[in-house]
Amino acid sequence: MSYDTNNIFARILRGELPCIKLYEDEHTLSFMDIMPQADGHALIISKEPATTLHDLSPEGAAACIQTTQKIARAVEAALDAPGSLVMQLNGAGAGQTVPHVHFHVVPTSIGQLRAT
Ligand code: ADP
Repeated sequence: MSYDTNNIFARILRGELPCIKLYEDEHTLSFMDIMPQADGHALIISKEPATTLHDLSPEGAAACIQTTQKIARAVEAALDAPGSLVMQLNGAGAGQTVPHVHFHVVPTSIGQLRAT
């Protein structure tokens, strides 16, 4: 899929827009979601110019999962949450609004997990 170099997350990666950064390494960046679905809602993005999961290299996909694992552990521990949801939407038809591949980590209570 063609990549929009002016999407919001591309601009965050270039330092043109601010973010509340949680973690960064060679392949990924994690920051707080600007409209959180719950306290501690974090995003993990690839540094590759990829629109969806399908566009990532195998190495880029693996790096995203490793960072998602780190962030999920950290936000659950920080909020003393019993669990977390990891979500990843591909394409406008699935509800993806920012066309740069990203993973959501949403710490959740037991009640929230049952309701979904
Ligand atoms: P949806 O908007 O349906 O959740 P996505 O999976 O594309 O679909 O999620 C994009 C996420 O990016 C949303 O949770 C939104 O709140 C978040 N977001 C948009 N702009 C920013 C920003 N500047 N900084 C941090 N998060 C952002």
